[in-house]
Amino acid sequence: MTTTKNTLRKELRKIQEKMELLSDFENHGYKHKTCENNEHEWANPEVISHEAGCIKTSDTCRLCGVTTIRIYNLDKVVYEDDYEEFRDESLDQETTETDDKPTLPLEKTSQSDGTYKVDVASILGRDEE
Ligand SMILES: [Zn+2]
Repeated sequence: MTTTKNTLRKELRKIQEKMELLSDFENHGYKHKTCENNEHEWANPEVISHEAGCIKTSDTCRLCGVTTIRIYNLDKVVYEDDYEEFRDESLDQETTETDDKPTLPLEKTSQSDGTYKVDVASILGRDEE
């Protein structure tokens, strides 16, 4: 494989990333030996992705810096109604169905055939001149 500017740039980027990781390691003061299984002190799990019923969380030990990724597959969603006993479905129906028709603004003059002209301008919110 021939060495080109591009391959050197890639190598340089890898070394830079490694340097950043090393200073991260030193700045956090992580232990040089990872914790035994039950010694980890997990910070707080952070949701890193949540799609199609699959939830992934990530959590890093504040002592050694090891990250744990947990994958949860959602298999059930349950709804609970703590207020069920207070609900009266007939009440909702009473308020949505009324016998009263909305009043239409009528012009004072009635037509000779007994019909009324509806003043559309006031419904539309603009004045006719
Ligand atoms: Zn640990």
